[in-house]
Amino acid sequence: MGFWWRPLSVLAGVLLVALMLWAGSGAVTALTFLVGIQAAVMLRRLWQEYRLSRWLESPDEVTPPEAMGTWGDIFYRLEKLQRRQRDSRSELTNALEQFEHAAQAVPDGMVILNGNDQIDWCNPASRKYMGLDCERDRGQFIRYLLRQAHFLEFLDAADYSRRLVCKSPLNREITLSLQLVPFGEAKKLLVARDITELERVDAVRRDFIANVSHELRTPLTVVGGFVETLADATTLPAADTRRYFALMLDNTRRMQHLLDDLLTLSRLESADHSLKDESVNVPELAQALAAEAESLSGGGRHRVHLEVASDAKLRGSLQEIRSALGNLVSNAVRYTPDGGDITLSWQMKDNEGVFAVTDTGEGVAAEHIPRLTERFYRVDRSRSRETGGTGLGLAIVKHVLTRHGARLTIQSTPGKGSTFAAVFPKSRLIEASPSATVIPFPAQVQAVG
Ligand code: ADP
Repeated sequence: MGFWWRPLSVLAGVLLVALMLWAGSGAVTALTFLVGIQAAVMLRRLWQEYRLSRWLESPDEVTPPEAMGTWGDIFYRLEKLQRRQRDSRSELTNALEQFEHAAQAVPDGMVILNGNDQIDWCNPASRKYMGLDCERDRGQFIRYLLRQAHFLEFLDAADYSRRLVCKSPLNREITLSLQLVPFGEAKKLLVARDITELERVDAVRRDFIANVSHELRTPLTVVGGFVETLADATTLPAADTRRYFALMLDNTRRMQHLLDDLLTLSRLESADHSLKDESVNVPELAQALAAEAESLSGGGRHRVHLEVASDAKLRGSLQEIRSALGNLVSNAVRYTPDGGDITLSWQMKDNEGVFAVTDTGEGVAAEHIPRLTERFYRVDRSRSRETGGTGLGLAIVKHVLTRHGARLTIQSTPGKGSTFAAVFPKSRLIEASPSATVIPFPAQVQAVG
């Protein structure tokens, strides 16, 4: 109704004036008046139509026409409609841009395929993993670009619950997990995820379980064999029985050591095992470890020396540092033939605290050195076992040192000997003093400087 009242009242006004003119001046005057009004209305309409068509041609550049009356009303409504359209267009553009940015940031490769398996769209990560190029390959059949037989079979099967694990066609070092996700009408999203790290962790886990089982199998078989012999035999010479029990005890201890080391490693690796902040008196600890080396050596098979050139202490876990340095000392004793020398030293070098264990033992060839801290890595498996080794000692050392911000350095010459050194950063040292007094073992260690 809002639209009608104005034109109708104008029309009524015009007719009223025409009637008054008819009554006052005759029919000709009234008709002339009506024709004049009609001509004015037509001209105005033509003018407004012209302005409207000019504006509609380029509504974003030309300012919308303004007018009074019904034309003004029409122009106002059209402009409102145009503004609404412009707003929704910019909302749509924003949403598209955001999607585009998100797709660029997604680390997984993503490819949209149409019903014929042609590429509609793909993100930059799909170039890294599958060598696809969004601009170049749009509209291409994916089966012509990725031709591996197992991929084609996976594509044709269209089994959306299945994942295909395969190597990236661009880089054989990268393992991918591919998945197809259906959406819309007959469209598919191909997602490629890099699972190289997961695969590696899985392989490490499998190796670890295989190694542990392997390490446990031998002593268990030995103990089991003797238990069977003892159970079956009615009478056995006392000497044999004693020997069997001694061997069983030996193998049980071996399993015990292995489990102890495994538990230590797992404790070191557990996330909630926070590092203690104790003051570790290294000179005192070195003294204790030297005594331990003497006792491990058993009856003076080796000459043990102690050189403490610094009174610096360490901040960290006493128990962990003791276990790490103790491992280095026990290795030196175990891998040094009788009559050899073992030297424990503690000194400052380039602002770092260096605890070194030097031996004149069998040494390690250069190619083995980088792998010595791997779990269960041994240069000579049987030598390690004979001396009660578990193959986990240096892995524990490395873990403890890493937790303390320290590092392990290894220098070795086959046939001549080795130096295994734990190097602690300045931030871990307390009361470091530059003095270089050498304390001979077994002299009592005292604060120096
Ligand atoms: P294990 O229990 O076998 O000693 P570790 O992790 O302590 O395990 O050491 C790994 C390997 O490093 C040993 O098997 C041995 O081959 C070598 N190794 C360690 N310390 C020495 C050393 N002082 N001299 C020679 N070889 C060593």
